[in-house]
Amino acid sequence: MLSWEQSSSLAQMQRERAWVEIDLAAIAHNVTQIKRLLQNRTAFMAVVKADAYGHGSIAIAQAALQARATWLGVATIPEGIELRESGIQAPILILGATYTPEQIRAIARWNLQPTLCTPKQALVFAETIANLPNASPLPVHLKLDTGMSRLGTDWQAATEFAQLVHRLPHLSIASIYSHLATAESLDRTVVNQQRQRFETAIAQIKSAGITPPKLHLANSAGTLTDANLHYDMVRVGLALYGLYPAAHLKSVLALKPVLQVKARITQLKTIQAGTGVSYGHRFIADRELAIAVVGIGYADGIPRNLSNQMTAIVQGQLVPQIGAVTMDQLMLDVSQVPHLQEGDVVTLLGHDGKESISAEDWAETLGTISWEILCSFKHRLPRVAITRALPDFALDTKCQ
Ligand SMILES: *Cc1c(COP(=O)(O)O)cnc(C)c1O
Repeated sequence: MLSWEQSSSLAQMQRERAWVEIDLAAIAHNVTQIKRLLQNRTAFMAVVKADAYGHGSIAIAQAALQARATWLGVATIPEGIELRESGIQAPILILGATYTPEQIRAIARWNLQPTLCTPKQALVFAETIANLPNASPLPVHLKLDTGMSRLGTDWQAATEFAQLVHRLPHLSIASIYSHLATAESLDRTVVNQQRQRFETAIAQIKSAGITPPKLHLANSAGTLTDANLHYDMVRVGLALYGLYPAAHLKSVLALKPVLQVKARITQLKTIQAGTGVSYGHRFIADRELAIAVVGIGYADGIPRNLSNQMTAIVQGQLVPQIGAVTMDQLMLDVSQVPHLQEGDVVTLLGHDGKESISAEDWAETLGTISWEILCSFKHRLPRVAITRALPDFALDTKCQ
């Protein structure tokens, strides 16, 4: 991801064909709004894994930290190293599992903080750290499985796990955490059961004489639905990017989407009734149509399954996409839009005038979730910052 200065000088060139616009002020807005739901003791971890859900991790991490997020979460070691190489000094938790001595040495070298999921993994960590030339204690985060059936030690075995890590030299327990499986659901049965299991495990660990400095459980959905899930830190991904884990959460707070996808019209033409459009002629014009060819396709991350099922916004007007989406291009029916020119900008996701199209709309058509839509935009699309995240912004809005 480019810095603001670089991106503003390159912006013209980057906007020649197709690009992703990133509104860094929206990141500041979202962090500030979400922090209003939190108590002072609750830290905000900006989850910037997967290149910040496709937004570009360095710029997003910087903007979130400026808006008073204090932790960053990534999935992998290279994702953490990328942030460190950019000069970011905030604590970085690796949410994924890491096992090998090479990985452990990289974690220590780059001042990253690992998630420990099993006793076996903890032993490899302790041994590897002990063999480093100047071994200093490594902060580690213990992951409990309270009902997600993904990473973590079963909550019923949490005390033995914590005791083992507690006794191991060179490892210091920085937090104990778990992950929610159904926090966006209106039915709270599973969430409440997970919280109960987490509480039980923590109570037992404490009575064994171990006091973890931090506890955390909530993703975006947990953060937005229930203050009892906030503990000492919330790990916010989707909501940071301005999207809601479920439609019923839109009333909780006003988030701003951060990402927009835009592309230019590369050719305009008129086709006659009966003319087929694109591969397979999956669209046949039923009358004379004005069509626009747009320079963006599935190799940029526009899902081919949206062919004939999506719209775009041209000069503030919604228009239908027609025919199969191809690798690098797609076609629009622009018969209803007067005075178009080649080079005009089309909004595939985002807003223009009164119209908007969200990742949620695409997810609904495709039968998937907005998380997957955000992560689908390819590196061929430059990420262009359209606003700065001003530190004063956060101050203005009286965030803690
Ligand atoms: C990805 C992730 C999150 C963030 O989830 P959102 O639903 O996007 O807020 C939080 N915690 C863990 C462990 C994760 O892997």
